[in-house]
Amino acid sequence: MKIPRRRALMGLGTAAMLPLAAGAQNASQPKAAGAKPIRIAVMHFAHETVTFLPYDTTTDDFIYEGSPARGEALLSSQPTGYIGGFVKVAREYANVELVGIESPLGSKKGSGSGWITKEAFQHFLDKMITDLKAQGRFDGAYLALHGAMGVRDVAKPEAEIARRVREVIGPKAFMVGTFDPHGNEDADFLRYSNLAFCIKYYPHYDGYLQGERAARTLVRCIRGDYKPVSATRKPPILTPSVLQWTGASPWMDIVQRALTWEAREPDAYVNFFYGFAFADSVDAGMCFQVMTNGNPELANHIADDMAGAAWRQRDDLLNHTKVYRHKEGVRLAKEALQKGSVPFVLADHSDRSGAATWLLQEIIEQKLSGTLIGTIADEQAINTLRKKGVKVGDAFDMEIGGRIDVSAGKPVRVVGKVHTVSGGLSRRSGGSQLWVSVKFGDGNVVVISPYLSQIIQPRSFLDLGIDPDTFKGFAIKSRVHFRRGFYDSGYAKTVLLVEPDDPFVGTVRLEALNYQHLPVKKLYPYAKNITFQVKGPGKLSEYPGRDGTDGGG
Ligand SMILES: [Zn+2]
Repeated sequence: MKIPRRRALMGLGTAAMLPLAAGAQNASQPKAAGAKPIRIAVMHFAHETVTFLPYDTTTDDFIYEGSPARGEALLSSQPTGYIGGFVKVAREYANVELVGIESPLGSKKGSGSGWITKEAFQHFLDKMITDLKAQGRFDGAYLALHGAMGVRDVAKPEAEIARRVREVIGPKAFMVGTFDPHGNEDADFLRYSNLAFCIKYYPHYDGYLQGERAARTLVRCIRGDYKPVSATRKPPILTPSVLQWTGASPWMDIVQRALTWEAREPDAYVNFFYGFAFADSVDAGMCFQVMTNGNPELANHIADDMAGAAWRQRDDLLNHTKVYRHKEGVRLAKEALQKGSVPFVLADHSDRSGAATWLLQEIIEQKLSGTLIGTIADEQAINTLRKKGVKVGDAFDMEIGGRIDVSAGKPVRVVGKVHTVSGGLSRRSGGSQLWVSVKFGDGNVVVISPYLSQIIQPRSFLDLGIDPDTFKGFAIKSRVHFRRGFYDSGYAKTVLLVEPDDPFVGTVRLEALNYQHLPVKKLYPYAKNITFQVKGPGKLSEYPGRDGTDGGG
């Protein structure tokens, strides 16, 4: 079987490869005495850009109290995320120095904003590069990225970041990136970086774990114990995020397949990028990356196997999840209320600005009761309320939400009483924003926030002074992340995914979006008569891996 040999990366051949796992104990053992000192630069630049939103993401959106961050502030910026895991494991090794390079943290608008301006991208990347140069020589670099950053006139921003960093650290240093599975990736990032580690689950449970693996494998590379080779496959499949829940088949099966490869082959790592359809980039869509320790045949074999498995299940990947229109969703929520199948969750998966009022409108129209609606993003309303010096118990009569674009719908008049005034979610802003909730109708409360907010845990409402247990149902803006707190926890009894009648920005009907860069007509399910050739599953005799261990049971 002919195997395309991956171009040797930055002078790294495969000739010197070690037998799998040999030397591991002495080369990179944590706290090994006398280990050669190594320096690793840590950087962060991440955004999931919804390029169909009508307003750009600018320099200002990344500048706020605490961002940009550098030094220890950057290293401690994600205690339970990628960087937290990376720092924890890197510091378990002897003589490893981590240097936090000045980096922007997440946008204050979350993912609820459009194209990043070229000026903003260059501004922060230039600052990172300047600081990187100023900090001296490095043996390794860690980039905490997302993968679906959309920058005007920059086709593949993450690959561009890696290219610039490689120019500074030189061909002999090693580089690793961590990614979100909603990244739109291909092989380009790995032209400049040696390694990439991507979250496997949606909801994204394993950021910390991938950070840990990134640190361990990077240190092993630097100490000569891991010779990274990779293979990339891009099956032409484009899916909207709401369908990608990995808690159910067939998405679960593909994750499981990746985990099985990692379990049976020491030192093999499998990245499964689901892709992000709402960033209009040339490389949007599904992708697999496989890394092995100096074994390109194995990397290619696994990559073929993964891509083949996804391709065989392409129909099911798109069609197993039911998404209702708002009218039907609210009707079903009322039914759940009557049957006592509560609490229910109505998740408007399609609202990408946070300002959408379709569901609120429908709740008012159908007189749904006992429902906590969180949130309607409306910066203007929040500013008005701030000027007024809003207080708990004030009478409230205002139009909220909408306005941003057609996808947000019309502002909706809410008449009621101010229920709570708070600083917002502590996990996002440290509770420094102004959030207001209003009681109206038959036991309903609507939360107004300045920006898009995805409520993923019922207990998040406690930050706002609202007890979630006093409600029969929730109307939130989330696709899959809410399952963490509302479903995987066993909290909600009924889950209803909803979207508006018209196919707006966040729709599952991707054919309605005006793609300029992504060749959507070449991707399943929008292509006619599409074929995709992969080698897998192949003959057993051609399988290049090791023999497994036998056992009883
Ligand atoms: Zn994601």
